[in-house]
Amino acid sequence: MQENTHKYTILIAEDEAINFLFLEILLKKQIDLGCAIIHAKNGAEAVEICKKNDDINLVLMDLKMPVMDGFEAVKLIKEIRPKLPIVAQTAFSSIEDKEKVFAAGFNDFLSKPINKEALLDVINRQKEQKINKNLNFIN
Ligand SMILES: [Mg+2]
Repeated sequence: MQENTHKYTILIAEDEAINFLFLEILLKKQIDLGCAIIHAKNGAEAVEICKKNDDINLVLMDLKMPVMDGFEAVKLIKEIRPKLPIVAQTAFSSIEDKEKVFAAGFNDFLSKPINKEALLDVINRQKEQKINKNLNFIN
């Protein structure tokens, strides 16, 4: 594995290439977070990557993916990395959907289409959560 010289490593689990590219540009160019980004194309890949890579600080998880969806993946990742913040990317935003997302173990959610402000809010919330709940997020 390449030496990771970035301050943060973010795993994006997203099956649609265009959505992944959009998030990558937001994080790297618009927010300029100085992060390494890893792409998982389904939930099963995300779980495997989290097992192998202790550097990951944050997961942005799509809910609807082939092979294994985000709900299943968050459960498995939390078993091995309970303190890793995992944020659901969801196309739905009803109160029931939000409750379902938190009940599944996600730490936060982003409604699609994701914009820069919402993404920054989530990142800042996770920084506060790190202080409050001892999550392994960025300083
Ligand atoms: Mg999807």
